[in-house]
Amino acid sequence: MARLKNKVGLITGAGSGIGAECARLMAREGAAVALTDLDADAVARVASEITSDGGRAISLAQDVVVEAQWESVLAQTREAFGEVSILVNNAGIAPNGEHVEEMDFEEWRHVIAVDLDSVFLGCKHGVRAMKTHGGSIINVSSIMGIVGNPGSGSYNAAKGGVRLLTKVVALECAQNGYAIRVNSIHPGYIKTPLVTDGVVSIAAREGEQTPEEVLEMITLRHPIGRMGQASEIANAVLFLASDEASFVTGTELVVDGGYTAQ
Ligand code: NAP
Repeated sequence: MARLKNKVGLITGAGSGIGAECARLMAREGAAVALTDLDADAVARVASEITSDGGRAISLAQDVVVEAQWESVLAQTREAFGEVSILVNNAGIAPNGEHVEEMDFEEWRHVIAVDLDSVFLGCKHGVRAMKTHGGSIINVSSIMGIVGNPGSGSYNAAKGGVRLLTKVVALECAQNGYAIRVNSIHPGYIKTPLVTDGVVSIAAREGEQTPEEVLEMITLRHPIGRMGQASEIANAVLFLASDEASFVTGTELVVDGGYTAQ
């Protein structure tokens, strides 16, 4: 139960879903964790749950698209626990389901900002913070960074961008002699508010289907016969964060119940 002993993690979007589950698991495995989110109350609740269970956690409000806030959350984390050695760029939003020909430019820019620009900023400031002592950066992409999906143009573009940006940053760290590994994770559909409140309600609104029918249709796309759980993504993040992944950099870890194997 100490696979992350002596490590300090920062997880964005940790007030909900995958990010919250990553924070809980990383703390159980011995890391001190800084949880950040746009929703300050939600992230404070998750952090206090972790500390009640004996873990070390702080919560910080952060909008991941504001560069100055990256400098501030990294400094506050360092002050609380020491140098950051794990960064999980997880915060993200779903697309609104519009096809490209109907999509408002502002909507495109919003999704690209939250889902891609944020990862650029996280990598930029994460590398600066870790380059003297090393660490692991994990960028949460998606199966939508590998295969296309009608109505997800901005999200596909952002998540595909995260996939390749990850490889570039991994190569740059290696070339510069920094002991920083950088990898992306590609979840299939996971039962979190992003899917249950976002994707499903949009699909149900657009078509003739009920939310239950949309969930059933999504489930059927996974050969394993079900959607994933946030804990199953957290387990993969834990591996990449730990020293067990010491020779793993620039890779894309697909955790999708076989979705992209077909
Ligand atoms: P979630 O439950 O909606 O959690 C995402 C969190 O990110 C929310 O707490 C949200 O806060 C926060 N957030 C949104 N915009 C932000 C911003 N500008 N700055 C800081 N925090 C912000 O979603 P999730 O499913 O756990 O998604 C986590 C990541 O996994 C995302 O990058 C998503 O694209 C990716 N992913 C999810 C799935 C899936 O099926 N669930 C599949 C593949 C990849 P608010 O609630 O206040 O907006």
